[in-house]
Amino acid sequence: MTQHLQITKAQTLKEKPEVAGIPFGSYFTDHMFSMDYSAELGWHNAAIVPYAPFEISPSAQALHYGQTVFEGMKAYNVNGEVILFRPDENFKRLNRSLERMSMPKVDGDFALRALTELLKLEHDWVPDGEGQALYVRPIVFANEAYLGIRPAKSYKMLIVLSPVAGYYGAQLNPTSIFVEDTYVRAVRGGVGEAKFAGNYAASLTAQQKANDLGYEQVLWLDGVHQEYVEEVGSMNIFFVRNGELVTPELNGSILPGITRKSLITLAKELGYNVVEERIHIDDVEKGIKDGSITEVFGAGTAAVVSPVGIMNIHGTDYRINGNEIGEVTQKLYDQLTGIQTCKLEDKQGWVYQVTSTVK
Ligand SMILES: *Cc1c(COP(=O)(O)O)cnc(C)c1O
Repeated sequence: MTQHLQITKAQTLKEKPEVAGIPFGSYFTDHMFSMDYSAELGWHNAAIVPYAPFEISPSAQALHYGQTVFEGMKAYNVNGEVILFRPDENFKRLNRSLERMSMPKVDGDFALRALTELLKLEHDWVPDGEGQALYVRPIVFANEAYLGIRPAKSYKMLIVLSPVAGYYGAQLNPTSIFVEDTYVRAVRGGVGEAKFAGNYAASLTAQQKANDLGYEQVLWLDGVHQEYVEEVGSMNIFFVRNGELVTPELNGSILPGITRKSLITLAKELGYNVVEERIHIDDVEKGIKDGSITEVFGAGTAAVVSPVGIMNIHGTDYRINGNEIGEVTQKLYDQLTGIQTCKLEDKQGWVYQVTSTVK
């Protein structure tokens, strides 16, 4: 069903912040996308409206039982043109998350068209500084006022936009990570592979623990054996082992990152062997000790690639590549960001043009 998109423009526009140095996700643009779902009407009321608070019932199901999923992607300003990176993949994943949480799917093509219109309206908000972008946050939540435990009958979808500074300064700074062996992020058969809001609430205690111990991120082990490497913070994890790129295989509790998927394709293109397998934390420790593991990095939309310089495994700190970014990590970062900023050829057709000419 093709839907009509109503557009209501804001009366007054906000002053835009100086993007350099602003904390992630703290400023929002003038407009947002909004759409409602009811069992009778399906998805309806698709509209671009002024960004503003709205009413919600105190008994809204999302507040009580957590039916909330989200997505995250970035719009880049390339010489005045606005582009997205593989947005179709984000809407496909949104639908997989919705399905897992017993929520109604959205028409991905329509959602992308609505996002395109929203970004056209907000193109002055897409910053053009090195590494800067307009972060795109779609969210769907249950707003039916009902306290019974069953899938809700009404939902709201929003897309809000937030200018973000570059994750790094002049170079990629390695992070320190703590291998968490008490708390787990996700379990087999659970909801780890969905971008489900509760997963992030559940991660905060371990994140705080890692920070208190002096580490920036948590390395999550699997929830069944607590022995196999899953993710780092809210990023997928990669190792360079004997010159090959190695990453945990998708097992149902790992979030299938679009950055992960893209890096696998690019690494193969660059001639690296890529291995997706179950990775035991003891083998990681051994590999770092005997020098077969030379680089470790996280991968996700926010940082693109985040080198790991220090890794605490069961109480011992290991330095990786002298706490410097490694050659393979840098090469993959340059390749992916090169495509995202249209400096390198987009052989795979990953770049989605929002505007062809702006101003
Ligand atoms: C979003 C996310 C990722 C990275 O996914 P991208 O599509 O690459 O941004 C990895 N792990 C978790 C837990 C995530 O929420």
